[in-house]
Amino acid sequence: MKTYVVGNWKLNFTVGEASIYLHKLLKRLPVYRDVEVVVAPPFIALQSLSLQIDRHKLKLASQDGYYKDFGAYTGETSFSQLRGLVNYAIVGHSERRYVFHEDDKTIAKKVAAAVRNKITPILCVGETESERAFGEMKDLIRDQVIGGLREVADDNLDKVVIAYEPVWAISSVKGAKSASPEEVAEVIRLIRETLVDAYGRNAAEKVPVLFGGSVNSANVGGYLTIPGVNGVLVGGASLILQEFTDIIEIAKRVRV
Ligand code: PEP
Repeated sequence: MKTYVVGNWKLNFTVGEASIYLHKLLKRLPVYRDVEVVVAPPFIALQSLSLQIDRHKLKLASQDGYYKDFGAYTGETSFSQLRGLVNYAIVGHSERRYVFHEDDKTIAKKVAAAVRNKITPILCVGETESERAFGEMKDLIRDQVIGGLREVADDNLDKVVIAYEPVWAISSVKGAKSASPEEVAEVIRLIRETLVDAYGRNAAEKVPVLFGGSVNSANVGGYLTIPGVNGVLVGGASLILQEFTDIIEIAKRVRV
């Protein structure tokens, strides 16, 4: 399996800044066949960046998408409109869940709509600090994994990626802490077991599971050597060119 390095730019960069950043990134990046580099710019930059990128070096992701194809849904962008522009879509990011109140039912529809439109959803799951403190982490992760995949046919499971992102470890969250390798390993195992129980071992083993939460060039090597971690989802550090290229190079060297 490839090692994934996904950069989530969130609500950062103008279209011009995004283009300049990507130009510099492409200049530095060789073609790495065993590392899948993906960036998720703001929607408004996707069209122009899709003309600029070398898809042998990196792929584009959207940060979200709407499950209806067309219609009276002001402000939304559908996966059918994103088809051909992006290869991946982040779905169910904790900021969508907690700032924009998306539930597992909505997220399941988005995951299915992405798959239907030949876009690989990166389904994000993760507990808050208080959910962990109250002993709800395991049930919540299982619910988010099973709930998010509910509308995906069994034979399409190989078209999804899952990212474990504990909300308490996301760098922009107040008082964020780094997750320890043991904490990450436990949840990665839980995600894999949940997939095995629901879909069988063969299918479950084909699903890439990423980790995200304050990943940077200093800690990425450690996270990538945790058994079962197939890559990283990077927020803040993906906005800094040197950091992001260092992370990609380390991922190439560590190679899970
Ligand atoms: C994220 O929000 O997806 C994320 C991983 O952010 P950060 O790396 O900044 O913690």
